[in-house]
Amino acid sequence: MDYIIDFKEIVEQAPAEEPARQYYFMDRVRELVEMKKQEGYAAHCMVEVMGCQMSAKDGEKLLGILERCGYTVTEDDRDADVVLFTTCTVRENANMKLYGRVGRLKHQYERRDGMIIGITGCMMQEKDEVEGIRKRYPYVRLVFGTHNVYKLAELLYQTLVTGKRTFEVLEDTKLIVEELPSDRRYRFKGAVNISYGCNNFCTYCIVPYVRGREKSRNATAILRECEQLIADGCLEITLLGQNVNSYGNDIPGSTSFPELLAAVAELPGLRRVRYMTSNPKDLSDELIEVMKTHPNIERHIHLPLQSGSSAILKRMNRHYTKESYLALVEKIRRELPEVALTTDIIVGFPGETEADFQDTVEVVQQAQFDAAYTFIYSKRTGTPAASYEQVPEEDVKDRFDRLLKIVQESSAANETRDLGKTMEVLVEDENKNQEGYLTGRLSNSVLVHFPGPKELIGTMQMVKLTESKGFYYFGELVGRQSEAQYCETGSI
Ligand code: SAH
Ligand code: SF4
Repeated sequence: MDYIIDFKEIVEQAPAEEPARQYYFMDRVRELVEMKKQEGYAAHCMVEVMGCQMSAKDGEKLLGILERCGYTVTEDDRDADVVLFTTCTVRENANMKLYGRVGRLKHQYERRDGMIIGITGCMMQEKDEVEGIRKRYPYVRLVFGTHNVYKLAELLYQTLVTGKRTFEVLEDTKLIVEELPSDRRYRFKGAVNISYGCNNFCTYCIVPYVRGREKSRNATAILRECEQLIADGCLEITLLGQNVNSYGNDIPGSTSFPELLAAVAELPGLRRVRYMTSNPKDLSDELIEVMKTHPNIERHIHLPLQSGSSAILKRMNRHYTKESYLALVEKIRRELPEVALTTDIIVGFPGETEADFQDTVEVVQQAQFDAAYTFIYSKRTGTPAASYEQVPEEDVKDRFDRLLKIVQESSAANETRDLGKTMEVLVEDENKNQEGYLTGRLSNSVLVHFPGPKELIGTMQMVKLTESKGFYYFGELVGRQSEAQYCETGSI
């Protein structure tokens, strides 16, 4: 059956301001979906997150909008009428992964009448990738970028009614649309964006180009969202920004990050607050002080090193040196001895010599990270480093393998630190590998597995750490906390 819908008229009647306009389109999609359901349309949707925590947060927003549009979440793409991907493009292999997934959905698209496969996220901010999808993947019917995730309902409506492919990617935006629906993966923990984009322009990194200039959210809106999450049963909140330390720099007279973090930590009922990511160039004494005075701020700092060579750091445009980084680590260890330090390291940045690499090794050995995420440099078109002279592949591979070993040794040594102690754990999930076991996190983000009933998921429990496995612990429940804050886990 064809529905008689005057698309032009519907669009003309839509409110101009946001978020009212999007709520209007969510209602229009919902009406359409209800009609289609009469004819057997299942209205199942799925969002597949392929990137970082920002991408996961976008995924929650997309799911929230789809549910409000009348769709029900499924985890099986064979059963989905709408499948959306939130993509990553930080490294080349992320792009490859997307094309593999989309390719495998073709068969599905041919079998399922009216199926919509859509792609958003960082990769869609790259013109060449979008053009490639336009030509090579005709069954991808919806493409939008990082700046108009909020517009999903409007774009979906257009795709459903016109039957045409919808492509809308904006270069940048100053607009932040608040108060849209969101569907959280876990009821007991949530993430809140405090800023979008990045102004740092590290020379290897595509993020400022695909996420745009830094835009901080208003502190009142952030606190309101945190309060709603707590009221909704959240025990833990993660504050998200590409560089949380520069929060507010774009708003004259704004609250600083340490002030914002303190205000969130002081919200009644919040058991834990975390943040990602903190650039070493501007991690302030105030931030350390706020962490000292607020025990519910997670005892974990992710402090991306990228390279231990001052010369490479300069060419990466990181604004710190090997010495200043090590001095900062020392200060953190002195002021906050229980903090776990984790890092990101890039191996094989253009021009990296064996001596530069040895500087990285030295920093790793001295800093004794609890965990380090190591990446092979990936050339990103459009970034300054793409035009620098690249390091031969075999040298990079050899350095990467050596670094991985050193990193594993140093983090394994750290993870016996708390052995034998009884510590508070936020219980997050059932342990998939061991029947009857649960998995949770310590305040320093380290994983603990212990036997226990699944009703404890979403509660804080005291667990004795009985065995260290290098990167995680096994433990035993000590007593049982009475608060019945547990709730179901879903997934996106
Ligand atoms: N804003 C965060 C980083 C986001 S990207 C920060 O500054 O810490 C996450 C990580 O990906 C970076 O820390 C870096 O180690 C890695 N990365 C970014 N661009 C890369 C590239 N071109 N090649 C390899 N790794 C890269
Ligand atoms: Fe990329 Fe540097 Fe910005 Fe992090 S701080 S997102 S690495 S440009």
